[in-house]
Amino acid sequence: MFLVDSHCHLDGLDYQSLHKDVDDVLAKAAARDVKFCLAVATTLPGYRGLRSLVGERDDVVFSCGVHPLNQDQMYDEQELLTLAAEPGVVALGETGLDYYYTPETKARQQISFRQHIRIGRQLNKPVIVHTRDARADTLAILREEKVTECGGVLHCFTEDRETAGKLLDMGFYISFSGIVTFRTAGQLRDAARYVPLDRLLVETDSPYLAPVPHRGKENQPAMVRDVAEFMATLKGVSLAELAQATTANFASLFHVDASRLQPA
Ligand SMILES: [Zn+2]
Ligand SMILES: [Zn+2]
Repeated sequence: MFLVDSHCHLDGLDYQSLHKDVDDVLAKAAARDVKFCLAVATTLPGYRGLRSLVGERDDVVFSCGVHPLNQDQMYDEQELLTLAAEPGVVALGETGLDYYYTPETKARQQISFRQHIRIGRQLNKPVIVHTRDARADTLAILREEKVTECGGVLHCFTEDRETAGKLLDMGFYISFSGIVTFRTAGQLRDAARYVPLDRLLVETDSPYLAPVPHRGKENQPAMVRDVAEFMATLKGVSLAELAQATTANFASLFHVDASRLQPA
């Protein structure tokens, strides 16, 4: 079996007491059949740091972008384009809109979000979208900036079924994290049942939001298996089928050669 963690922040894990290094984290993941990760950046200096932390590996690819919560820091659009064009970078992001935590940077977030989509189209790399309390504006910007030309994923999905439908209509993939396992997430499970298997991804968004039964602990890529097991039950398929589908979806969205996504 081959599982992919489609969204993790490898630079946010606890290397003081929990893990020796990135190798250690990925070995723990592989022991649970999680054999590939997308390491997501949230600032441009963070992207550079992430690349040097992880190094060149066959089992990790990267995204490059500036998170909506980091729009209080200025960055250079040309530098974003240059870094995003680097080999090993498979996506722009994470980008998007977060009006819950940082409504004061709304205008700046929108400009940055549009920029990321345009660069994604220019480089033919999909966008990784984060949205919170900003449903209508997120959908409008995706449509206006013609995101269908580069594609993308709504990561850590916490919206409703209707929003999922609109994203699917735009050709989007939808990624579920450990939140779907939380006892209170009834409406989210309803949306998860609705998303077809051929548009589904799974992620940890580690180090945040560990899935049941690990709540309260640090999340890590290995735990995407718990999300996948939960989703398989929810969708009424075997874990192997869920793994097969989500890995194939990952390959096709991020243009990762399928030969890299097979058991060694
Ligand atoms: Zn996010
Ligand atoms: Zn994230």
